[in-house]
Amino acid sequence: MFEEIYHDYLNHKNEQNRKERYEGNESWYHASGAGFCSRKLYYESVEKAVPTNLPNKRSTRVMGLGTAIHSEIQSSLLYYNNINKDNNKDNNNTVHIVKDTVHNFHTEGEIVLEDLNVRGYYDVVMEDFTDFNTEPYIRLYDVKTISNFGYRKKFPRGGGGEVSRNHYLQLATYGLGVMEKYGRLDSMDLLYYNKDDSRIKKQPVPIGHINQAKMYWTSINQEHSKGLPMFSIGTSPTKDWMCSYCQFLDHCNPPKFK
Ligand code: SF4
Repeated sequence: MFEEIYHDYLNHKNEQNRKERYEGNESWYHASGAGFCSRKLYYESVEKAVPTNLPNKRSTRVMGLGTAIHSEIQSSLLYYNNINKDNNKDNNNTVHIVKDTVHNFHTEGEIVLEDLNVRGYYDVVMEDFTDFNTEPYIRLYDVKTISNFGYRKKFPRGGGGEVSRNHYLQLATYGLGVMEKYGRLDSMDLLYYNKDDSRIKKQPVPIGHINQAKMYWTSINQEHSKGLPMFSIGTSPTKDWMCSYCQFLDHCNPPKFK
């Protein structure tokens, strides 16, 4: 019973989010889709096909947990903003955070890249007045929730861990939008949250990756202008195991599943 109720609730929240953010904007590519299968992006934003393979209950809960962690982190940043505005005290006059007026956070801001037909919502932008400059540094963060297995691969003892091309591309896509919106971008970081033991660690991403994001979306637009991309491991899909989790699996019918 509880599983059913929770599943219905998560579906309701997902539908609410889809309506608020994406209804009427189906032709745009989603910034969060950067690096995913090119055929999948085509079905979503060019063909506007109805998904044939919705996530199962467990996958829906995994995504729900990620959303909840995002929401909590973002709420904490807005709380931090407000504490600063109120001389670092809450309603009970209790001091919570050492006074610091050099950081101001924005969360869930929309980005629109007209020329690339991409839109989406970044997680966190921080205005950083650390150097007491009149114009703050603009720092972008994207929160990623991952398993302990993935976390240990990214942050092994001794350094030199794995990087995720998709995560880099997604962050850099937001970076393009943030640069347009704020007129500058000084740093980008992925903020990894380990779902198993709640460790959090930053992974800096060089600003130069925004050029790769631009090239990536340009190539997607060019490829889709010729119609549905052919099957090709590396781009459509990026890895063959990804088809098992794809919402268009039956619609697409990739060779491996025939
Ligand atoms: S089923 Fe595979 S090839 Fe087809 S759209 Fe999905 S990920 Fe891409």
